[in-house]
Amino acid sequence: MSAPRLEIDLDKVQHNARTLVDQLSLRGISVTGVTKAALGSAELARALLRGGVKRLGDSRIENIEGLRRARVPASMSLIRTPMLSQVERVVEHADTSFNTELDVLCALSSAAKRAGVTHGVVLMVELGDLREGILPGDLETTVRETLRLPNLRLRGIGTNLACRSGVVPGPENMAELSALADSIEATFGVELEIVSGGNSANLPWALSSASSGRINDLRLGEALLLGREPLLRQALEGLHTDAITLCAEVIEAKLKPSLPRGKLAQSAFGEVPAAVDRGPVWQTILSLGRQDTDPEGLYPPHGLEVLGASSDHLFMDPGACRLPVGAEVRFQLNYSALLRAMTSPFVTKVVRAAGEPGAGASPPVVPQVGAARASKGIRPVR
Ligand SMILES: *Cc1c(COP(=O)(O)O)cnc(C)c1O
Repeated sequence: MSAPRLEIDLDKVQHNARTLVDQLSLRGISVTGVTKAALGSAELARALLRGGVKRLGDSRIENIEGLRRARVPASMSLIRTPMLSQVERVVEHADTSFNTELDVLCALSSAAKRAGVTHGVVLMVELGDLREGILPGDLETTVRETLRLPNLRLRGIGTNLACRSGVVPGPENMAELSALADSIEATFGVELEIVSGGNSANLPWALSSASSGRINDLRLGEALLLGREPLLRQALEGLHTDAITLCAEVIEAKLKPSLPRGKLAQSAFGEVPAAVDRGPVWQTILSLGRQDTDPEGLYPPHGLEVLGASSDHLFMDPGACRLPVGAEVRFQLNYSALLRAMTSPFVTKVVRAAGEPGAGASPPVVPQVGAARASKGIRPVR
Protein backbone atom coordinates (compact mmCIF):
# COMPACT_ATOMS: atom_id res chain seq x y z
CA MET A 1 0.00 0.00 0.00
CA SER A 2 1.36 3.39 -0.94
CA ALA A 3 2.89 5.76 1.59
CA PRO A 4 2.57 8.29 2.98
CA ARG A 5 -1.10 7.66 3.67
CA LEU A 6 -3.76 8.84 6.04
CA GLU A 7 -5.81 6.03 7.50
CA ILE A 8 -9.27 7.03 8.65
CA ASP A 9 -11.19 4.69 10.92
CA LEU A 10 -14.81 5.63 10.33
CA ASP A 11 -16.06 3.60 13.29
CA LYS A 12 -13.85 5.61 15.62
CA VAL A 13 -14.98 8.90 14.07
CA GLN A 14 -18.59 7.79 14.44
CA HIS A 15 -17.94 6.83 18.06
CA ASN A 16 -16.40 10.25 18.77
CA ALA A 17 -19.40 11.97 17.19
CA ARG A 18 -21.92 9.82 19.07
CA THR A 19 -20.17 10.39 22.40
CA LEU A 20 -20.15 14.19 22.07
CA VAL A 21 -23.63 14.37 20.52
CA ASP A 22 -25.04 12.43 23.50
CA GLN A 23 -23.15 14.45 26.11
CA LEU A 24 -24.11 17.79 24.54
CA SER A 25 -27.74 16.86 23.96
CA LEU A 26 -28.12 16.60 27.74
CA ARG A 27 -27.29 20.32 27.74
CA GLY A 28 -29.63 21.22 24.91
CA ILE A 29 -26.81 21.60 22.39
CA SER A 30 -26.77 19.96 18.95
CA VAL A 31 -23.69 19.42 16.84
CA THR A 32 -22.78 20.75 13.41
CA GLY A 33 -20.14 18.33 12.09
CA VAL A 34 -17.35 20.32 10.41
CA THR A 35 -15.76 18.51 7.47
CA LYS A 36 -13.18 21.07 6.31
CA ALA A 37 -10.19 19.29 7.85
CA ALA A 38 -11.26 16.16 5.97
CA LEU A 39 -11.39 17.93 2.59
CA GLY A 40 -15.15 17.45 2.61
CA SER A 41 -14.88 13.64 2.51
CA ALA A 42 -18.31 12.16 1.85
CA GLU A 43 -17.52 8.94 3.70
CA LEU A 44 -16.38 10.83 6.74
CA ALA A 45 -19.45 13.07 6.55
CA ARG A 46 -21.67 9.98 6.53
CA ALA A 47 -19.87 8.63 9.61
CA LEU A 48 -20.54 11.92 11.41
CA LEU A 49 -24.22 11.72 10.45
CA ARG A 50 -24.40 8.13 11.73
CA GLY A 51 -22.91 9.51 14.94
CA GLY A 52 -25.87 11.86 15.25
CA VAL A 53 -24.62 15.26 14.11
CA LYS A 54 -27.58 17.44 13.16
CA ARG A 55 -26.06 19.15 10.12
CA LEU A 56 -22.75 19.54 8.31
CA GLY A 57 -20.58 22.61 8.03
CA ASP A 58 -17.61 23.40 5.82
CA SER A 59 -15.62 26.55 5.13
CA ARG A 60 -15.20 25.79 1.41
CA ILE A 61 -18.02 25.79 -1.11
CA GLU A 62 -16.02 23.28 -3.19
CA ASN A 63 -16.29 20.76 -0.34
CA ILE A 64 -20.02 21.36 0.05
CA GLU A 65 -20.49 20.89 -3.69
CA GLY A 66 -18.59 17.60 -3.44
CA LEU A 67 -20.83 16.43 -0.59
CA ARG A 68 -23.90 17.28 -2.68
CA ARG A 69 -22.52 15.40 -5.70
CA ALA A 70 -21.96 12.40 -3.42
CA ARG A 71 -25.60 12.75 -2.34
CA VAL A 72 -24.83 13.06 1.35
CA PRO A 73 -28.27 13.66 2.86
CA ALA A 74 -27.83 16.58 5.24
CA SER A 75 -28.46 20.22 5.78
CA MET A 76 -25.21 22.06 4.98
CA SER A 77 -23.82 25.36 6.19
CA LEU A 78 -21.00 27.36 4.68
CA ILE A 79 -19.22 28.46 7.86
CA ARG A 80 -16.96 31.08 6.27
CA THR A 81 -18.36 34.37 4.98
CA PRO A 82 -19.08 33.80 1.28
CA MET A 83 -17.02 35.55 -1.38
CA LEU A 84 -19.03 37.95 -3.52
CA SER A 85 -17.73 36.01 -6.50
CA GLN A 86 -19.27 32.78 -5.20
CA VAL A 87 -22.77 33.79 -4.08
CA GLU A 88 -24.48 31.85 -6.91
CA ARG A 89 -22.72 28.65 -5.90
CA VAL A 90 -23.48 29.31 -2.24
CA VAL A 91 -27.24 29.70 -2.64
CA GLU A 92 -27.36 26.71 -4.96
CA HIS A 93 -25.50 24.26 -2.73
CA ALA A 94 -25.51 25.48 0.88
CA ASP A 95 -28.76 25.71 2.85
CA THR A 96 -27.25 28.33 5.13
CA SER A 97 -24.17 30.53 5.22
CA PHE A 98 -22.46 32.43 8.02
CA ASN A 99 -22.26 36.15 7.32
CA THR A 100 -20.80 39.41 8.57
CA GLU A 101 -21.00 41.83 5.61
CA LEU A 102 -24.11 43.60 4.29
CA ASP A 103 -22.73 43.69 0.74
CA VAL A 104 -22.51 39.92 0.78
CA LEU A 105 -25.99 39.57 2.30
CA CYS A 106 -27.42 41.78 -0.47
CA ALA A 107 -25.67 39.71 -3.14
CA LEU A 108 -26.88 36.47 -1.56
CA SER A 109 -30.40 37.84 -1.49
CA SER A 110 -30.29 38.74 -5.22
CA ALA A 111 -28.74 35.38 -6.12
CA ALA A 112 -31.35 33.51 -4.07
CA LYS A 113 -34.10 35.49 -5.76
CA ARG A 114 -32.74 34.65 -9.21
CA ALA A 115 -32.46 30.99 -8.26
CA GLY A 116 -35.94 30.97 -6.75
CA VAL A 117 -34.74 29.73 -3.34
CA THR A 118 -34.69 30.95 0.22
CA HIS A 119 -31.20 31.02 1.71
CA GLY A 120 -30.59 30.67 5.44
CA VAL A 121 -28.32 33.14 7.20
CA VAL A 122 -26.46 33.00 10.50
CA LEU A 123 -24.91 36.30 11.56
CA MET A 124 -21.52 35.96 13.21
CA VAL A 125 -20.69 38.24 16.13
CA GLU A 126 -17.21 39.38 17.19
CA LEU A 127 -16.76 38.60 20.89
CA GLY A 128 -13.06 39.20 21.38
CA ASP A 129 -11.05 36.79 19.24
CA LEU A 130 -10.76 39.33 16.38
CA ARG A 131 -11.68 36.85 13.72
CA GLU A 132 -14.81 37.29 11.60
CA GLY A 133 -17.79 38.96 13.18
CA ILE A 134 -20.11 41.92 13.44
CA LEU A 135 -19.32 44.12 16.44
CA PRO A 136 -22.04 43.62 19.09
CA GLY A 137 -23.01 47.30 18.84
CA ASP A 138 -23.69 46.90 15.10
CA LEU A 139 -25.67 43.67 15.32
CA GLU A 140 -29.09 45.29 15.60
CA THR A 141 -28.57 47.36 12.44
CA THR A 142 -27.34 44.35 10.50
CA VAL A 143 -30.32 42.28 11.65
CA ARG A 144 -32.71 45.06 10.60
CA GLU A 145 -31.16 45.20 7.12
CA THR A 146 -31.06 41.41 6.80
CA LEU A 147 -34.73 41.08 7.67
CA ARG A 148 -35.55 43.49 4.83
CA LEU A 149 -33.75 41.44 2.19
CA PRO A 150 -35.98 39.13 0.14
CA ASN A 151 -35.22 35.40 -0.17
CA LEU A 152 -33.05 35.38 2.97
CA ARG A 153 -34.14 33.80 6.22
CA LEU A 154 -32.35 34.85 9.41
CA ARG A 155 -31.81 31.54 11.19
CA GLY A 156 -29.60 32.62 14.03
CA ILE A 157 -26.43 34.15 15.37
CA GLY A 158 -23.07 32.69 16.25
CA THR A 159 -19.54 33.41 17.31
CA ASN A 160 -16.10 31.92 16.90
CA LEU A 161 -13.44 32.12 19.62
CA ALA A 162 -10.07 30.51 20.38
CA CYS A 163 -9.04 30.69 16.76
CA ARG A 164 -7.07 33.75 15.74
CA SER A 165 -6.22 35.01 19.22
CA GLY A 166 -6.89 32.03 21.47
CA VAL A 167 -9.66 33.76 23.47
CA VAL A 168 -11.13 31.10 25.77
CA PRO A 169 -14.88 30.43 25.46
CA GLY A 170 -16.37 30.69 28.94
CA PRO A 171 -19.36 31.83 30.98
CA GLU A 172 -18.90 35.56 30.22
CA ASN A 173 -18.63 35.54 26.45
CA MET A 174 -21.25 32.79 26.14
CA ALA A 175 -23.65 34.77 28.35
CA GLU A 176 -22.99 37.78 26.11
CA LEU A 177 -24.04 35.76 23.05
CA SER A 178 -27.16 34.52 24.85
CA ALA A 179 -28.09 38.07 25.83
CA LEU A 180 -27.66 39.23 22.23
CA ALA A 181 -29.98 36.45 21.06
CA ASP A 182 -32.62 37.46 23.62
CA SER A 183 -32.34 41.12 22.71
CA ILE A 184 -32.62 40.51 18.94
CA GLU A 185 -35.71 38.36 19.48
CA ALA A 186 -37.31 40.95 21.73
CA THR A 187 -36.52 43.87 19.43
CA PHE A 188 -37.60 42.27 16.16
CA GLY A 189 -40.19 39.71 17.26
CA VAL A 190 -38.29 36.93 15.47
CA GLU A 191 -37.21 33.53 16.68
CA LEU A 192 -33.53 32.64 16.42
CA GLU A 193 -33.48 28.93 15.79
CA ILE A 194 -29.66 28.64 15.94
CA VAL A 195 -27.38 30.17 18.58
CA SER A 196 -24.02 28.73 17.63
CA GLY A 197 -21.53 29.14 20.45
CA GLY A 198 -18.32 28.12 18.72
CA ASN A 199 -16.00 25.26 17.87
CA SER A 200 -14.21 22.38 19.63
CA ALA A 201 -12.61 24.90 22.00
CA ASN A 202 -16.06 25.43 23.53
CA LEU A 203 -16.22 21.84 24.79
CA PRO A 204 -14.48 22.35 28.16
CA TRP A 205 -17.03 25.11 28.87
CA ALA A 206 -20.03 23.25 27.43
CA LEU A 207 -19.32 19.95 29.19
CA SER A 208 -18.69 21.52 32.59
CA SER A 209 -21.10 24.44 32.84
CA ALA A 210 -24.37 24.09 34.71
CA SER A 211 -26.31 25.99 32.07
CA SER A 212 -25.53 26.70 28.44
CA GLY A 213 -27.99 29.60 28.29
CA ARG A 214 -29.28 30.14 24.77
CA ILE A 215 -26.40 28.27 23.12
CA ASN A 216 -27.94 25.33 21.22
CA ASP A 217 -25.30 24.52 18.61
CA LEU A 218 -21.56 23.89 18.47
CA ARG A 219 -19.59 23.44 15.26
CA LEU A 220 -17.16 20.62 15.88
CA GLY A 221 -14.29 19.47 13.68
CA GLU A 222 -11.09 18.75 15.59
CA ALA A 223 -12.77 17.07 18.56
CA LEU A 224 -14.67 14.63 16.34
CA LEU A 225 -11.69 13.75 14.17
CA LEU A 226 -8.82 13.86 16.67
CA GLY A 227 -10.52 13.39 20.05
CA ARG A 228 -8.88 16.45 21.58
CA GLU A 229 -10.00 19.91 22.66
CA PRO A 230 -7.90 22.65 21.08
CA LEU A 231 -7.24 24.87 24.13
CA LEU A 232 -4.67 22.61 25.78
CA ARG A 233 -4.88 19.75 23.26
CA GLN A 234 -5.98 17.38 26.04
CA ALA A 235 -7.58 14.11 25.01
CA LEU A 236 -11.33 14.22 25.70
CA GLU A 237 -12.62 11.48 27.94
CA GLY A 238 -14.10 8.53 26.09
CA LEU A 239 -12.91 9.70 22.66
CA HIS A 240 -10.44 8.07 20.27
CA THR A 241 -7.35 10.16 19.52
CA ASP A 242 -6.22 7.73 16.83
CA ALA A 243 -9.24 7.72 14.52
CA ILE A 244 -6.96 9.24 11.90
CA THR A 245 -3.31 8.24 11.63
CA LEU A 246 -0.53 9.03 9.17
CA CYS A 247 1.69 6.19 7.94
CA ALA A 248 5.09 6.87 6.41
CA GLU A 249 7.85 4.65 5.07
CA VAL A 250 11.55 4.45 5.93
CA ILE A 251 13.85 5.21 2.98
CA GLU A 252 17.21 5.40 4.79
CA ALA A 253 18.56 4.10 8.10
CA LYS A 254 22.23 4.70 8.90
CA LEU A 255 24.34 5.12 11.97
CA LYS A 256 25.40 8.79 11.80
CA PRO A 257 26.85 11.35 14.18
CA SER A 258 24.18 13.47 15.89
CA LEU A 259 26.11 16.71 15.22
CA PRO A 260 26.57 18.18 11.73
CA ARG A 261 30.10 18.69 10.34
CA GLY A 262 31.25 22.02 8.78
CA LYS A 263 30.49 25.71 9.20
CA LEU A 264 26.81 26.29 10.10
CA ALA A 265 24.29 28.85 8.76
CA GLN A 266 20.52 28.69 8.14
CA SER A 267 18.90 25.46 7.04
CA ALA A 268 16.60 25.24 4.01
CA PHE A 269 13.68 26.56 6.09
CA GLY A 270 15.55 29.43 7.72
CA GLU A 271 16.19 27.76 11.05
CA VAL A 272 19.54 27.54 12.73
CA PRO A 273 19.29 23.94 13.92
CA ALA A 274 20.27 23.50 17.55
CA ALA A 275 21.69 20.01 17.48
CA VAL A 276 22.59 18.23 20.70
CA ASP A 277 25.47 15.78 20.78
CA ARG A 278 23.99 12.46 21.73
CA GLY A 279 26.72 10.42 20.08
CA PRO A 280 26.04 8.34 17.00
CA VAL A 281 22.34 7.61 16.31
CA TRP A 282 20.56 5.33 13.87
CA GLN A 283 19.32 8.31 11.89
CA THR A 284 16.20 7.09 10.16
CA ILE A 285 14.70 9.00 7.25
CA LEU A 286 11.03 8.69 6.30
CA SER A 287 9.65 9.83 2.97
CA LEU A 288 7.44 12.42 4.63
CA GLY A 289 8.11 16.14 4.47
CA ARG A 290 6.67 19.60 4.65
CA GLN A 291 4.92 19.05 1.31
CA ASP A 292 2.96 16.26 2.99
CA THR A 293 2.22 17.44 6.51
CA ASP A 294 3.24 19.78 9.33
CA PRO A 295 6.17 17.91 10.91
CA GLU A 296 5.75 19.85 14.17
CA GLY A 297 2.26 18.41 14.51
CA LEU A 298 3.18 14.72 14.50
CA TYR A 299 2.96 12.49 17.58
CA PRO A 300 5.45 9.65 16.96
CA PRO A 301 5.11 6.24 18.59
CA HIS A 302 6.59 5.93 22.07
CA GLY A 303 10.42 5.81 22.02
CA LEU A 304 10.81 7.47 18.62
CA GLU A 305 11.75 11.10 18.23
CA VAL A 306 11.40 13.54 15.33
CA LEU A 307 14.71 15.38 14.86
CA GLY A 308 13.80 17.59 11.93
CA ALA A 309 12.23 17.80 8.51
CA SER A 310 12.86 19.02 4.97
CA SER A 311 10.32 19.42 2.15
CA ASP A 312 10.58 15.70 1.51
CA HIS A 313 12.21 14.02 4.51
CA LEU A 314 11.45 13.40 8.15
CA PHE A 315 14.56 12.73 10.27
CA MET A 316 14.04 10.48 13.26
CA ASP A 317 15.99 9.01 16.12
CA PRO A 318 14.38 5.58 16.53
CA GLY A 319 15.80 5.14 20.06
CA ALA A 320 16.12 1.48 20.90
CA CYS A 321 14.18 0.44 17.76
CA ARG A 322 15.77 -0.57 14.48
CA LEU A 323 13.61 0.47 11.55
CA PRO A 324 14.88 -1.03 8.29
CA VAL A 325 14.25 0.50 4.88
CA GLY A 326 10.63 -0.24 3.96
CA ALA A 327 9.36 -0.24 7.55
CA GLU A 328 6.34 1.91 8.29
CA VAL A 329 5.88 4.32 11.16
CA ARG A 330 2.42 5.44 12.23
CA PHE A 331 1.82 8.88 13.73
CA GLN A 332 -1.07 10.55 15.45
CA LEU A 333 -1.57 14.12 14.29
CA ASN A 334 -2.58 17.52 15.53
CA TYR A 335 -4.98 19.72 13.58
CA SER A 336 -2.28 21.46 11.57
CA ALA A 337 -0.63 18.18 10.54
CA LEU A 338 -4.02 16.69 9.65
CA LEU A 339 -5.10 19.69 7.60
CA ARG A 340 -1.90 19.71 5.57
CA ALA A 341 -1.86 15.93 5.04
CA MET A 342 -5.50 15.97 3.94
CA THR A 343 -4.86 18.69 1.40
CA SER A 344 -1.55 17.29 0.10
CA PRO A 345 -1.86 15.49 -3.24
CA PHE A 346 1.10 13.33 -2.20
CA VAL A 347 -0.74 11.70 0.69
CA THR A 348 -3.10 8.82 -0.10
CA LYS A 349 -6.31 8.76 1.92
CA VAL A 350 -7.72 5.40 2.93
CA VAL A 351 -10.80 4.72 5.01
CA ARG A 352 -11.68 1.74 7.06
CA ALA A 353 -15.37 1.59 6.32
CA ALA A 354 -17.93 0.64 8.92
CA GLY A 355 -19.14 -2.94 8.63
CA GLU A 356 -16.17 -4.10 6.57
CA PRO A 357 -14.01 -6.97 7.80
CA GLY A 358 -11.47 -5.67 10.24
CA ALA A 359 -13.44 -2.51 10.88
CA GLY A 360 -13.26 -1.39 14.48
CA ALA A 361 -10.39 -3.76 15.22
CA SER A 362 -7.65 -2.38 17.42
CA PRO A 363 -4.93 -0.61 15.43
CA PRO A 364 -1.77 -2.48 14.46
CA VAL A 365 1.08 -2.30 16.95
CA VAL A 366 3.24 0.75 16.36
CA PRO A 367 5.79 1.11 14.99
CA GLN A 368 4.86 -1.28 12.21
CA VAL A 369 8.09 -2.94 11.24
CA GLY A 370 8.41 -4.87 8.01
CA ALA A 371 7.39 -4.33 4.43
CA ALA A 372 4.34 -2.18 3.78
CA ARG A 373 1.30 -4.36 4.18
CA ALA A 374 -2.27 -3.70 3.22
CA SER A 375 -4.41 -3.72 6.34
CA LYS A 376 -7.65 -5.62 6.18
CA GLY A 377 -10.71 -3.58 5.46
CA ILE A 378 -8.74 -0.61 4.18
CA ARG A 379 -9.62 0.81 0.81
CA PRO A 380 -8.84 3.97 -1.06
CA VAL A 381 -11.05 7.04 -0.67
CA ARG A 382 -12.59 8.18 -3.93
C1 LIG B 1 -13.10 25.32 11.39
C2 LIG B 1 -14.24 25.98 12.02
C3 LIG B 1 -14.93 25.32 13.05
C4 LIG B 1 -14.49 23.98 13.60
O1 LIG B 1 -13.39 24.16 14.45
P1 LIG B 1 -12.76 22.94 15.28
O2 LIG B 1 -11.78 23.57 16.17
O3 LIG B 1 -12.15 22.03 14.26
O4 LIG B 1 -13.87 22.29 16.01
C5 LIG B 1 -16.03 25.95 13.60
N1 LIG B 1 -16.44 27.16 13.15
C6 LIG B 1 -15.81 27.82 12.16
C7 LIG B 1 -16.33 29.15 11.73
C8 LIG B 1 -14.69 27.26 11.57
O5 LIG B 1 -14.06 27.92 10.58
